[in-house]
Amino acid sequence: MAPDDTDPDLPHRTPPRMRILIVEDEPKTAAYVSKGLAEHAYVVDIASNGIEGLHLATSGNYDLILLDVMLPGADGWSVLQALRRERQTPVLFLSARDEVADRVKGLELGADDYLVKPFAFSELLARIRTLLRRGSTQVEQRIRLADLDVDLVRRRVSRAGERIDLTAKEYALLDYFVHHIGEVVSRTLIAEHVWDMNFDSDTNVVDVAVRRLRAKIDDPFDAKLIHTIRGVGYVFDSRAE
Ligand code: CA
Repeated sequence: MAPDDTDPDLPHRTPPRMRILIVEDEPKTAAYVSKGLAEHAYVVDIASNGIEGLHLATSGNYDLILLDVMLPGADGWSVLQALRRERQTPVLFLSARDEVADRVKGLELGADDYLVKPFAFSELLARIRTLLRRGSTQVEQRIRLADLDVDLVRRRVSRAGERIDLTAKEYALLDYFVHHIGEVVSRTLIAEHVWDMNFDSDTNVVDVAVRRLRAKIDDPFDAKLIHTIRGVGYVFDSRAE
């Protein structure tokens, strides 16, 4: 249960730091890249083989993945292929290979960029910043929170890779939530934005709609995304209860 003494007027916390996953089996490279990124305020996790890398990439909430091609367990190609079935996290391939065919293969499989080793850290950092910026301009097309994926263009919703069908109203409510992640939203605000009406006198309509949406996007899953702030409204985020 979320705390019910949350003050909606408190300023929002500073935005969380960007999280980067490094999937790299060479300890020296992993340590070098990780140290450099940490110095630039990124939160970094390292996986040293393809299987662990895929597990973290699909279960963690990363803003970007640096993916080596030649890896024990599962190579970078298979990791990317499996990842793309579930998530669109930007992927930057790091590889000692410099074959044109490899670059093409990586990009066809859905990699966002490709950097050949050895590389200067400054170049890696520049590419990372570009990809993260590009990601933030795509916010209007696709929003992800934990394992929930909302395609705002096709109006398609999935969670943990499973397609979820919503009614128009349920979708409108979810759309409002995903544009206000981490904010306390009152029933009145929701009523005004989702129903385009003033429901001051009967915000029960909102509670009913939230219950229906919860039944589809939260109830079947362990981690809840819609949290009730008693007497105030709701918060949509992936924090632990
Ligand atoms: Ca390698």
